[in-house]
Amino acid sequence: MFKLKANFALLGEGFYSFVSPLPLDNSRLVHLNYPLIDKLGLNEVDNKEWDTILSAKHIFPDYQPLASVYAGHQFGVPVPRLGDGRAMLIFEHEDDEGSIWELQLKGAGLTPYSRMGDGRAVLRSTVREYVASIAMAALNIPTTLALGMCDSDTKVYREEVETGAVILRVSPSFIRFGHFEYFAKQKRLQELQQLIDFTISNYYPEIELDSPDYILKFLDAVVKKTAQMIASWQAVGFVHGVMNTDNMSILGLTIDYGPYAFMDKFIPSQIYNHSDSEGRYTYANQVYIGWWNLYRLAESLVLIYPDADQLEKCLETYADYYNTRYTELIGKKLGFEVFEPTDFVLGEKLLKLMQQYQMDWTYSWRQLSYGESGYHRLKKLYNFGDDFSNWYFEWQQALLNNKIDLDGALKLMQESNPAIVPRNHLLQEVITKAQSGSYEELAQLIEVLNDPYQEIEKYQDYYKLPQHGQSIFI
Ligand code: AMP
Ligand code: MG
Ligand code: MG
Repeated sequence: MFKLKANFALLGEGFYSFVSPLPLDNSRLVHLNYPLIDKLGLNEVDNKEWDTILSAKHIFPDYQPLASVYAGHQFGVPVPRLGDGRAMLIFEHEDDEGSIWELQLKGAGLTPYSRMGDGRAVLRSTVREYVASIAMAALNIPTTLALGMCDSDTKVYREEVETGAVILRVSPSFIRFGHFEYFAKQKRLQELQQLIDFTISNYYPEIELDSPDYILKFLDAVVKKTAQMIASWQAVGFVHGVMNTDNMSILGLTIDYGPYAFMDKFIPSQIYNHSDSEGRYTYANQVYIGWWNLYRLAESLVLIYPDADQLEKCLETYADYYNTRYTELIGKKLGFEVFEPTDFVLGEKLLKLMQQYQMDWTYSWRQLSYGESGYHRLKKLYNFGDDFSNWYFEWQQALLNNKIDLDGALKLMQESNPAIVPRNHLLQEVITKAQSGSYEELAQLIEVLNDPYQEIEKYQDYYKLPQHGQSIFI
């Protein structure tokens, strides 16, 4: 059952505003994430109660919902005040292991930070966030989690009338870089200090607050987590699409799934966010943007730790953390348990070919994991010259030279190259069904996404390449 453990709420009113969720009309439970419910020890909560919670009708006793305030850099431009415009922390729950989880509704109505918005979320974007959160967790990529979602008859006006939906997100914390920027920008140093101490003591307990360089250690830890998260995005072909600093988790979790994409064809400069006319947040740019965002965080921390040189030095390690993790992941995708930088050339050559022939990211890696048969499938699909065969031969040679047996390599590859990710056309199909009132297809997709490293015979259609015209952005 729910066990209250107020934590973020104890920070005080400088950090948030109390809010009242606005219930949805005629809510319909769309999906519940039972493995997560289980993990939180909430099995006894029945579906009816989840529906009441998801449709914003349930107020937890002793916990007043709140929306937190933050700032941020949006598309490179500083914005002094943003905040949870349509998200509300409705409860802080302690699980049986003593971990505290924040439960947050997204789409439950207006907050003081809604600005021009309506505080609502539509079914389409809610399905996208819900599915991505579950898929990323199954792919072992750090992410905020999703416990459930509902749809309703509440009308929401976008380009056309849509229905209001709500997702219940779960995370140890939803603190963003933007939270630090907010207090730094206003020179509210006491609250900035309080936020830093809170974040370290709760989420980076290995750092001792009384050590003289604890801020450097903190920045280093965030740099590391951020670099590793982005390396895992690159390896799986995930483009976040809106990496504003208010969408960067201080825990290095993927957060705020908006116009994201899992690439079909490998086109690093492809823009997936229609508001991103300059391509700031493309696949090709997001590694650099991670560093740029960390720099903004450091600019806030310098008010507390005024040695800018040391902070800058700390940011330099971003490249090392990134390269180490990225190399490791690409190595595994190519069947190498240990991947020496000298072997990395192989990876680079493959990426060049993938880009040149606009090969499908997920499908191509997966086919390579099947050895000869996959190699022939790829050859049939793309109009290669000798270049691909040459690469393939070179790769096999490298495995031999490293005394790696092919079966072992292929096994590792199949565990590292998912057969399925939430591609745009798969999402679009279940969104269309959900919009017509059928949620079974969504549940089915989630089931397949929860087991991404296997191809299950009866789900064959899910692993296929998008048909012509299905890849909506290209
Ligand atoms: P995003 O970049 O999508 O994460 O959102 C940027 C800011 O706009 C955040 O502060 C959101 O809370 C806010 N926002 C986005 N959509 C809405 C909405 N429909 N109503 C209120 N606030 C919103
Ligand atoms: Mg956001
Ligand atoms: Mg958004």
